[in-house]
Amino acid sequence: MSRIDSRRLSETFLSLVRIDSQSRHEAAIHLHLKNILAGMGAEVVADRAGEAFGGEIGNLVARFPGNRKVEPMMLNAHMDTVGPGRGVRPQFKDGVFTSDGTTILGADDKSAIAILLEALRVIQENDLPHGPLDLLLTVGEEIGLAGAKHMDPSLLRARFGYALDATDTDGIVVRAPGANRLTFTVCGKEAHAGAAPERGINAIAVAAKAIAGLDLGRIDAETTCNIGQIEGGTAVNIVPNRVVVRGEARSHDPAKLEQVTNRILEAFEKAVAEARGDESADLPRLEAEIEEDFRPTHIPEDHPVVTLARRAAANLGRQLKAKITGGGADANIFFANGIITGVLGTGMRDMHTLHESVALADMVAAAELVLEIVRLHAEG
Ligand SMILES: [Zn+2]
Repeated sequence: MSRIDSRRLSETFLSLVRIDSQSRHEAAIHLHLKNILAGMGAEVVADRAGEAFGGEIGNLVARFPGNRKVEPMMLNAHMDTVGPGRGVRPQFKDGVFTSDGTTILGADDKSAIAILLEALRVIQENDLPHGPLDLLLTVGEEIGLAGAKHMDPSLLRARFGYALDATDTDGIVVRAPGANRLTFTVCGKEAHAGAAPERGINAIAVAAKAIAGLDLGRIDAETTCNIGQIEGGTAVNIVPNRVVVRGEARSHDPAKLEQVTNRILEAFEKAVAEARGDESADLPRLEAEIEEDFRPTHIPEDHPVVTLARRAAANLGRQLKAKITGGGADANIFFANGIITGVLGTGMRDMHTLHESVALADMVAAAELVLEIVRLHAEG
């Protein structure tokens, strides 16, 4: 019953990975896809999201009219890739795509774009039942979900949908953590380390004390935290007057996220206060910056986004497992904006490495699932 054309899907995928599109440099792929989608009769619009984070171009939305009067559905993938992603030379062996080993492949997330284009083509060619579809292709996903964060939401009609940006084709991601980004700057006092160390306040030593007292890594099943960057000091013979420490906290539970964030903050406050000793002294000093990176996603398993996808999978003789991820994705941002988004897999493996791969059979399976989801939804 599959109407998916695996050869065309394969060709689409190859043409996409050959277009360089590292984050902030998505203009070429954006324009390429804009032409394709306009040629398919969609109303294509773009926003100016790229301007907000030094990118070449914004997000792309292609609105397809439906032939059934049901709620509009969003379908989403991201156009950017991580590096090294320039000059990808895709290989195809035993049904699996890889790069030539010198770059990433870009299956993350171009496998998704190819899958969505193929599903849309099959819908059009066969005039299959479908509601209004908003295809949203974002920029800057790999640099902190930047495109989604700066998206113009008025471009979308849909209030629910599916993002294709996960590995397993037998899963739907229904839970993702929220995250805070933490930046602590400890200001000390510079002095000659040999001639007058007593005049200095060692900012690195103060920050080290704070970090040494922290519980890092996995806090519990749904909570993690990390100190990932430390930067400070200018020379071995100077008492350092400044150190910047960057970290993050994640949890599926907003209360725990706040707790672990506060615990880290308090550790820095305490270390700085102890080093200061005298209340009236103004050094060392702490500058703390706590930024919400993204909010947690939790879609109940009886939500229509999940049940629709599961019924579609069942129609194909497959089972869809509810999955939990520890990572953030554009879907977290959509969820926070009221667009309930389930994340589906494309078959991509070993993303963000030179060994990245995707099997064509998995991409076909993902395209069949999308097709069946759209068809089922159109039945109302
Ligand atoms: Zn991705």
